[in-house]
Amino acid sequence: MNAILQIDDVSKRYDGRSGPVQAVGSISIEVRADEFVSVVGPSGCGKTTLLRCISGLLAPSTGATRLNGKVVTGPPSEMAVVFQDYARSLFPWMTVAENVDLPIRRRRERAERESLVTESLKAVGLTDFARHYPWQLSGGMQQRVAIARALAYQPQVLLMDEPFASVDAQTRAELEDVVLDVKARFGMTVLLVTHDIDEAVYMSDRVIVLSKPPSTVQTNLTVDLPFPRDQVATKEHPEFAQLRSEIYLEITQGHMARETVRSER
Ligand code: ADP
Ligand code: MG
Repeated sequence: MNAILQIDDVSKRYDGRSGPVQAVGSISIEVRADEFVSVVGPSGCGKTTLLRCISGLLAPSTGATRLNGKVVTGPPSEMAVVFQDYARSLFPWMTVAENVDLPIRRRRERAERESLVTESLKAVGLTDFARHYPWQLSGGMQQRVAIARALAYQPQVLLMDEPFASVDAQTRAELEDVVLDVKARFGMTVLLVTHDIDEAVYMSDRVIVLSKPPSTVQTNLTVDLPFPRDQVATKEHPEFAQLRSEIYLEITQGHMARETVRSER
């Protein structure tokens, strides 16, 4: 496989106040250029920790991530990250346009920056809100700003940590389609972590199921649904139903298998 992103035996142990926590067991994942890969698993299985290790924000306890063959030791310039908590990721004293412009301010000429900001605000449907401040917008709109900021940056690899978890169902569906649309137009590699099985299947080329902590890769499933995806047609497709039950069973039976082992001790 011609991988752009190679996550090789990454594990993370926190030394918490109440003793060590093995948040990520040992995870190896390869992602091809232009692929959309989702990582699903229950809350607390180490998804955020894994993403922070991949993005270079946190040093893994073992293993390494390689981007284009180079070991990641800090946040690489080819990557952008969208976090779950949009409220904390935007600066309240900057307008929407200034927030989107911020990461590219030192990297691009003014004219190019202006068109990148305009284009990405248009892609997320916020053209009319460029001069607003984040606190004047709804949660879903603020998350759109965070997504626009990642898009303006034009990363090779976009990492997303439950980016739609804090918005209502309608907004979530809209944002899923915004990301798919932008990916189709600009061609990025995307790694999304989510606890939402439907979202993972809907958006991805491939879904990776994590086990309970200390998490490892439990299953790796290819999603053969046609693009462009459609909120109604795709979700009514027999393959969609098949995949979501397969993943659901993987997650719940994974739990049961471990519970049984524990109770037999
Ligand atoms: P997820 O994103 O899948 O919900 P997290 O990566 O946030 O999982 O957390 C995995 C485990 O690591 C949890 O048990 C959590 O309590 C623990 N954990 C997360 N961050 C820290 C930290 N900074 N210090 C100690 N333990 C942590
Ligand atoms: Mg998390």
